[in-house]
Amino acid sequence: MEAAAHFFVESPDVVYGPEAIEAQYEYRTTRVSREGGVLKVHPTSTRFTFRTARQVPRLGVMLVGWGGNNGSTLTAAVLANRLRLSWPTRSGRKEANYYGSLTQAGTVSLGLDAEGQEVFVPFSALLPMVAPNDLVFDGWDISSLNLAEAMRRAKVLDWGLQEQLWPHMEALRPRPSVYIPEFIAANQSARADNLIPGSRAQQLEQIRRDIRDFRSSAGLDKVIVLWTANTERFCEVIPGLNDTAENLLRTIELGLEVSPSTLFAVASILEGCAFLNGSPQNTLVPGALELAWQHRVFVGGDDFKSGQTKVKSVLVDFLIGSGLKTMSIVSYNHLGNNDGENLSAPLQFRSKEVSKSNVVDDMVQSNPVLYTPGEEPDHCVVIKYVPYVGDSKRALDEYTSELMLGGTNTLVLHNTCEDSLLAAPIMLDLALLTELCQRVSFCTDMDPEPQTFHPVLSLLSFLFKAPLVPPGSPVVNALFRQRSCIENILRACVGLPPQNHMLLEHKME
Ligand code: NAD
Repeated sequence: MEAAAHFFVESPDVVYGPEAIEAQYEYRTTRVSREGGVLKVHPTSTRFTFRTARQVPRLGVMLVGWGGNNGSTLTAAVLANRLRLSWPTRSGRKEANYYGSLTQAGTVSLGLDAEGQEVFVPFSALLPMVAPNDLVFDGWDISSLNLAEAMRRAKVLDWGLQEQLWPHMEALRPRPSVYIPEFIAANQSARADNLIPGSRAQQLEQIRRDIRDFRSSAGLDKVIVLWTANTERFCEVIPGLNDTAENLLRTIELGLEVSPSTLFAVASILEGCAFLNGSPQNTLVPGALELAWQHRVFVGGDDFKSGQTKVKSVLVDFLIGSGLKTMSIVSYNHLGNNDGENLSAPLQFRSKEVSKSNVVDDMVQSNPVLYTPGEEPDHCVVIKYVPYVGDSKRALDEYTSELMLGGTNTLVLHNTCEDSLLAAPIMLDLALLTELCQRVSFCTDMDPEPQTFHPVLSLLSFLFKAPLVPPGSPVVNALFRQRSCIENILRACVGLPPQNHMLLEHKME
């Protein structure tokens, strides 16, 4: 397979214009009704016209928590790839790559060739996407260390790579940020030396000025803001305080309780920049969601789906999908990075526990043969801070399922990896896919008025532990259903049918 294959769809339904790709697409699905105890299934079809602007913008990404392990690692990864760096290690020379990125290292099948073999292209070849090496980074951190020092503090990258990156990272300095001590663990206070002074309203204005300043000084067409700062405690949703856009803006004006992450979300939305939440807390309170709706700005969250949860959303799908009745899931982690230290405080751990706990709900609810209504597996999540292991997170999981005739199946898993090297490519995919979605519009035969995706960008669910979805929309956690959703929507944009894996061509005589 050629790594950067270009392809064209030759079909009367697909037009490659100078500005946009336009595709006519038949969305075939089914509606189910219940009539007298019988389920009636009605196949339906809606004609969509998808339009994807071809011009890829100059994209800036602002990271809140830029000087953290994820922020410094992502910045280093893009620089290392752009500079085509390689470095010696005790197991040989390593080269910069984007392993772990769905868009950069994942592939999709275009179909069968004349020999009946599948032809694959990189995911990023499906539609015009920003190249990661062209991203421009900026951001905020309550810690003033420059990005080179932050990279050293993170202890994620090999020394030979750090040395080469040092001169490129040294000049990058996080902008001062908003620190409200009660939202993150007390053990973080020592690094808070880079702060925006003033009232909440003044802080909001400063964040907005920062976004504008970055956009103009770096000559950008678009900016996306991504929260990768410490996990905050949950904030209470209180009528009159943060339940509507109007109340939330008034709360900020009056200096009442608002979390730093919500302040960043509001600033981004008001600047017309998509906001993505990589941590578990409920940053996108109802008032922030309403504001996003009013301003037609994309928001996505919550909490990067990187390691243990990703495995869980595959394994439980496999178990329940195979008809085994999973009854107990016990997930134990220990890690020694600053995220782990922050999560050692009860309120911050609680945010993580909640976001990790709901991840099997849809799979359990999908199988009324195995589970009676309301029945669910025991699910326990433990996180411990062990400084010595640093960014190398350990996850031990035990899954116990019932087999036929009283049998029991217990699976035990041990996963060790550098946490930030898993998270960084996910952050990259989030920015690239969100930007792509901003260039897609569509209309249907029923509603010819062009529209864009719902501001709550549920297409990103593959990348989040606790996916945010539009009100009333089902939450999908199962990983390969989430992947198919992205793949099939992108295929629809170039007029290709959903990937069905039927391979009927090979099942005929
Ligand atoms: P980190 O502690 O190394 O980095 C967080 C950074 O945020 C720190 O530099 C800190 O100074 C800064 N910060 C804290 N409050 C801030 C504020 N109000 N404004 C600006 N900066 C602020 O943590 P990390 O390992 O980079 O993880 C970042 C977040 O991503 C955490 O919430 C973590 O739970 C979440 N996450 C990480 C992974 C992963 O695999 N690494 C997976 C899912 C979620």
